[in-house]
Amino acid sequence: MAPTRPEPVLSVVVPMFNEEAVLPLFARRLRVVLDGLGEAYEVVAVDDGSTDGTPAGLAALRVGWPGLRVVRLRRNSGHQAALVAGVLRAHGRYVVSIDADLQDPPETIGEMLRRARADDLDIVYGVRDDRSTDSPFKRWTAGAYYRLMRRLVGKQVPAQAGDFRLLSRAAVEALRELPERSPVLRLVVPWLGFPSGAVTYRRQERPAGRTKYPLTRMVGLAAESVTSFSAAPLRFATWLGLAGVVVCGLLVVLAVAAWLAGATVTGWPSLYVAILFLGAVQLLCLGLLGEYVARIYTAVQGRPAYFVATDTADERHRPAEPAPVEVVEDTDDPAPVAGDAATVLTDARR
Ligand code: UDP
Ligand code: MG
Repeated sequence: MAPTRPEPVLSVVVPMFNEEAVLPLFARRLRVVLDGLGEAYEVVAVDDGSTDGTPAGLAALRVGWPGLRVVRLRRNSGHQAALVAGVLRAHGRYVVSIDADLQDPPETIGEMLRRARADDLDIVYGVRDDRSTDSPFKRWTAGAYYRLMRRLVGKQVPAQAGDFRLLSRAAVEALRELPERSPVLRLVVPWLGFPSGAVTYRRQERPAGRTKYPLTRMVGLAAESVTSFSAAPLRFATWLGLAGVVVCGLLVVLAVAAWLAGATVTGWPSLYVAILFLGAVQLLCLGLLGEYVARIYTAVQGRPAYFVATDTADERHRPAEPAPVEVVEDTDDPAPVAGDAATVLTDARR
């Protein structure tokens, strides 16, 4: 990314996946707020591989709104990946991330910016003080999630702070330095240790479209959050194993005593239960290990969490002619395949 580019003061990053229904409403409300701030801004809409009218809607909006920039990901990569893509590509001195569904009110952005400047903060969290518009199930699962995270990661994780937050340029650069390909931002950001504050807001109802977070995705995010930040579950497996050893020891004593007393024929149920129990404990511990092995596996693969297909901000900087492709003379040498590199390049510019 060219650092010489003129910087907007504020970047607003919006991940979107199939949000055609809410997009016009959202754009209208956001634009009123941003134009009213009187600051140079850019809106970075990250189209997370939408398959509905979202790309067309964004293209139409861009015609009359020079502040709108569209980053299109090649395929659906998930909310977190889309957020990271947008935040890392944003040019602003302050970067605010917000959902497209108007559950986070755009009006709060101004307050976040004021807080950041007034108190010289690098991070301002949007904290939901009222979730009465969410379903009881969503409230309950969210409450459990934040309690667990605060236990595992530490008290610096603010409860009820989702992905509506402001980051300073310094915080974004610190994020960029992380080796992780797909950090869970709501845990990594507090962990960075920057001075932070919070503004509260009321979580609102989705005016259109429907949630892209079914239960499976929520469970996925929770599992990812736990294993990305804590080895406590592995320790839990160890404790479970130790407890199992103690219980087994007692059972052995009992068994020997029973054998000595000559009462060893009966007892099939206890044997059966013990085998089932130990089998279950072993499977559980294997599963826990597997979760971490899976994380190591993905980390070692080092694949990016997303691919950017297009970024409207790059168009101005695109060279008129594609760079000439060097032809490798020695076809016996399979190592440097210039053709492949060229494919990647042109692909990235598409
Ligand atoms: N989103 C995304 N990629 C996905 C799923 C969701 O970019 O694969 C976006 C979505 O368009 C919205 C935000 O992430 O702007 C939050 O999603 P949603 O409102 O569905 O989640 P909820 O608020 O119900 O937890
Ligand atoms: Mg939502």
